[in-house]
Amino acid sequence: MKITFLGTGASPGIPMLGCECSVCVSPNSKNKRLRASILVQNNGFNFLVDASSDLRQQCLKNGVKNVDAIFFTHHHADHILGIEELRAFYFFQKKAIPCYGNEETFEEIKKTFHYIFQPTDYQGTVSQLDLLPVNGEPINFSELKIKPLEIDHGSLKIIGYKFNNVAYVTDCNNVPEKTEPELKGLDLLILNALRYKPHTTHFNFEEAIKTVERLKPKRVLFTHMNHEVDHETANKEVPAPIELAYDGMTVEI
Ligand SMILES: [Zn+2]
Ligand SMILES: [Zn+2]
Ligand SMILES: [Zn+2]
Repeated sequence: MKITFLGTGASPGIPMLGCECSVCVSPNSKNKRLRASILVQNNGFNFLVDASSDLRQQCLKNGVKNVDAIFFTHHHADHILGIEELRAFYFFQKKAIPCYGNEETFEEIKKTFHYIFQPTDYQGTVSQLDLLPVNGEPINFSELKIKPLEIDHGSLKIIGYKFNNVAYVTDCNNVPEKTEPELKGLDLLILNALRYKPHTTHFNFEEAIKTVERLKPKRVLFTHMNHEVDHETANKEVPAPIELAYDGMTVEI
């Protein structure tokens, strides 16, 4: 399995429009973060976790030419606005893209992208999605077993996904008790760490580090970071086995 970080940024992206802080103006390419999303490739299949607002440039930059399925974590704008860009894949693939997620995510997607789900003169030229609600049961694609896991994002119940023994948990501020055993002893945990200050719906660095200490994964990559986080400084400060992910980073596992 190969994982590519398409984006590792918090919702505004980094640099943030109008901001002149040291991270936003930094020339270090690792301080340039598009909206959070990963590409998971296995046995010739391309899977996306979320369709970020930056999906078009993420796919161009990383040579993504087709998408076999999308796993949605939740409906917040930074995680779904790329749905509009999926129309280009439909022109070539000619079939609806299977999309996994919970009912709440799908209700919000249907509101935001109402034109996709209504009869229109433009049928065939808009994105076509096949919405497949997850129910906690694993989804299998060849040798890859994908397990949806319930995660807390403030009061919102969202989904983390486990791909064999690798988990992607973004926009989390609490791991529910029933999910915790699924996240113990992973080969790789990709976890959100928004910033240093506490936040009501996201782990800050301290909380994310405490969670890692409890779950004891072999390797950890932090993502969904905002402009308070300078890559080189934070990457030196975090304890092993944590590292900061950056846009374009790939991991073979
Ligand atoms: Zn987010
Ligand atoms: Zn800034
Ligand atoms: Zn969110």
